[in-house]
Amino acid sequence: MKKPFAKRSLGQNFLSDLNYVNKIISALDPRQSDTIVEIGPGRGALTEKLSASGAEVIAIEIDRDLVPLLREKFQENTHIHVIEADVLDVNFESLLAEIPNLASSDPLCVKLVANLPYYISTAILQKLAGQRHLFSELVLMFQREVVERITAEPGSTERGFLTVLVEAAFETKKITDVPPTAFRPQPKIWSSVVRLRPKPASGVDEESFTRLVSTGFNQKRKTILNNLKPLYPNAGEMLEAAGIDPRRRAETLALEEWITLSRQTGDREV
Ligand code: SAM
Repeated sequence: MKKPFAKRSLGQNFLSDLNYVNKIISALDPRQSDTIVEIGPGRGALTEKLSASGAEVIAIEIDRDLVPLLREKFQENTHIHVIEADVLDVNFESLLAEIPNLASSDPLCVKLVANLPYYISTAILQKLAGQRHLFSELVLMFQREVVERITAEPGSTERGFLTVLVEAAFETKKITDVPPTAFRPQPKIWSSVVRLRPKPASGVDEESFTRLVSTGFNQKRKTILNNLKPLYPNAGEMLEAAGIDPRRRAETLALEEWITLSRQTGDREV
């Protein structure tokens, strides 16, 4: 079957440097007893290594031209399940329940790997944070700026809504930077690979936590008080009760301060 052209609109920069394929795979450490969800298998650079591990692999690809190629490539391996779908529409819980012969649906054995199309980085991270209880670990490639943002410490101007959301949901470890030359076609920017390990629920309602943090970062130049006031009329009292100076900017707040603050919103705790 002829290879279709790479589609820029779907973020198709395929990994061609085996060195980086191997780095990603060794960070994931696939075992035969694992179930692995791969987002955007593309031409199968990572899938091929996963296939060799004997793990049960669920590969979700949006591009209908690539799906038949992938199915053909892995037709001999009954442990590879290629699903044609937009990952943003996928409910991972139902997906894992639907696949026959799953080695295990135990979250301790379900891993996720993705060389992600950059245009969905934020949406996919939000989705994965909400469904993290299903996975033991996730190895993801993003554009380097996204990784710098999600690992930014309090006080850094890189720190934003996504940083706090990811910090609340995962332990994060950067694995490696990846140069444009590792891909075909080559992107203009560098990428980075990170490993995320899910944290247990913090006890606060995650929906209201997300609303609070996104409101707090609404306009980065404003103080936390001015950002929160439109949605939380008692923002002044909330900040005082949480021991947070209302003149501070959102980027200076540590995760624990956001959690304390979210306990003052009056929203339900879980
Ligand atoms: N994993 C392959 C590799 O490393 O060579 C391909 C990586 S390429 C950067 C991203 C892949 O994600 C492409 O195959 C693209 O078609 C697929 N993709 C883009 N948007 C998607 C979506 N919303 N859902 C599922 N797959 C998507």
